[in-house]
Amino acid sequence: MSSRKRRPVIAGNWKMNMTPSATKEFIAQLYENVKGKRGCDIVVCVPAIDIPAVAKACQGKSIKVGAQNVHFEKSGAFTGEISADMLVDAGVKYVVVGHSERRQYFGETDETVNKRTRAAIAAGLTAIVCVGEVLAEREADITEEVVSRQVKLALADVTAEEMKQVIIAYEPVWAIGTGKTATAEQAEEVCALIRGVIAKKYGKQVAREVIIQYGGSMNAKNAAELLAMENIDGGLIGGASLKAVDFSVIVDAAQ
Ligand code: PEP
Repeated sequence: MSSRKRRPVIAGNWKMNMTPSATKEFIAQLYENVKGKRGCDIVVCVPAIDIPAVAKACQGKSIKVGAQNVHFEKSGAFTGEISADMLVDAGVKYVVVGHSERRQYFGETDETVNKRTRAAIAAGLTAIVCVGEVLAEREADITEEVVSRQVKLALADVTAEEMKQVIIAYEPVWAIGTGKTATAEQAEEVCALIRGVIAKKYGKQVAREVIIQYGGSMNAKNAAELLAMENIDGGLIGGASLKAVDFSVIVDAAQ
């Protein structure tokens, strides 16, 4: 596909870390390190309870606020859940959908990933849709079919126009939080495959424009090599996003 790279999106996934009162200082420190670096979009996907504090701390800065999950209904009797409209109202622009930890621990399925993706899009959010194989699937040599299937099911009933609000994050589950990164070649191979799946469904133009991130132990040392690959347009970063300096080195690598 085209050799012209897309504008990268570097997104931190704080997971269940950082109290609201700790966010002000962290965002200030992060901003000190990333201000003026305009070559990529910078997002922090934070715990729901941190959103108001982070939105306030990010006001007027080049750091955008993301959430880590969204419910697919607009409102109602869904105790403990948060709707897309609530996120938008609180200043959120991006939301992670279908992270492997949610699939593994909270019963997320391809069907609910699709519903959450569509709810996020309808509310005006950008959905960062996570896909990726577990180790047994990679060892059984079925990565291609597992990831293709996840992408297709996540994007059911999503239109070509709506794809402007979708980012795909390829996150091999065996590489998340383990310190084991996919090699740049392994990551590129699957990101290219994902772009091919999107080309087949939506055509070359959409495929050329869609942002595909890599996630899985991306850090200050390996980011440059991963981000240099033709089909990797950014990163979804867990552990290293909790260290302002490391995260800003990844932002540097995306410039
Ligand atoms: C993630 O949480 O999406 C992730 C990739 O985590 P880590 O960078 O810690 O592997």
